[in-house]
This record gives sequence, C-alpha cells and structure tokens, in this order.
Amino acid sequence: MDELARACEAKAFHIGMDEVFILADPNCPRCKGKNPAQLFADEVKTLRAHLKKIGSRTWMWGDRFLEGKATGLGKWEASENGTASAIDLVPKDIVICDWHYDRSSETPLLFAKKGFDIVVCPWRKSDVALAQLAEVRAIRGGDDPAAARHALGMLQTTWCGLPPFAKAYRAQESGGATEKDAAAESANCFAALFKAIREKPQ
Ligand SMILES: [Zn+2]
Repeated sequence: MDELARACEAKAFHIGMDEVFILADPNCPRCKGKNPAQLFADEVKTLRAHLKKIGSRTWMWGDRFLEGKATGLGKWEASENGTASAIDLVPKDIVICDWHYDRSSETPLLFAKKGFDIVVCPWRKSDVALAQLAEVRAIRGGDDPAAARHALGMLQTTWCGLPPFAKAYRAQESGGATEKDAAAESANCFAALFKAIREKPQ
C-alpha cells in the first residue's frame, strides 16, 4: 500500500474489502467464535488508520456493510455472513463505493444517512447506471441536507483492465462497439452514464 500510494502520490486509496466470505471460520484457530462484524471493522480500521497516517483517504466497497437477507440483495452485493453491523463500527470519513450491477437500490441513501460519503457504482448495464444516477440526484435534491452532501457521484467499474476498456471506449465513440464482452459493455455503460451526467437533470 505504501509503495503504491507513494508512486501515485495518492490522496485516496481504495482498500477493496468486497465479497469477504470467510471470516470467523470455525476451522480458523485465530478467529473462530469471534464476531465477524467486529473482525471486519477492526481490519478496516487498521487499514484506514495507516492510510490516514500517510495522507491518503480510505475508499472501499460497501457490500459487507449491507444486510443481504433483509434487503434481498443476496450474499455477493450484500452480506449474509454477519458483517453488516460493522457499518456502525468504522470511521465515517471512509468513502463507500456502493456497487450494484443488476439493479439500482436504496442503499446509497442508507450510507449517506449514516454519514458516509458515497459513490454509486454500475458496471455493464446502462439502464441500471441511469437509475443509480437518478438515485444520487434524488439524494442531493432530497429533504435531508446532511445526506445530500454525502452523495459524491458515480464510479464506473470496468473489470477488464484499462487498455481493453480504452479500446472499447474509442470503438463505441466511433459507433463501432458491438462486441458483447465486459469491455464493450462497460464502455457503453460509461458513455451512456456520462452523457446523462452532462445533461441537465430534469
Ligand atoms: Zn481467521
């Protein structure tokens, strides 16, 4: 982390922490029987304290802070392994990247109301991205001014690496991105999203 932060002169550092499934495992001699939310929060706090010391703000994925069963979001984009209550155990200066790739959800407002800055993250589906943008704009224009300030914006994910994404983006700019791979789909999603961002909201 130090090497990367130094090399990039990073003022922000994304620590990941998504899809953590094996925690407080009964076969783990170190953490069996412990509270998964506490274990997860402790790790987040350790990383965040270190990043603060070297001048970087912590960003991370939000899925482990969401209740998978209660929200119906499932065990990937939310947690079914007892980590959700960690949301109340970590510092509020972390930026939460609230990723949902198949549908928009009301979770950005939940994070914003808790006091976290948030960005909402689509991947391949333009209609989902546009619904998420509407969600961000609704929070910003909503009746909770504290929450409104926390809605930072959108973060497009690609999951294909930068060169394939850049290539696909250039192809769609010239009207040629017809392939059905992750690069083309995320480039199309990004283009649709940023077209909408640049248009005046209704
Ligand atoms: Zn363990």
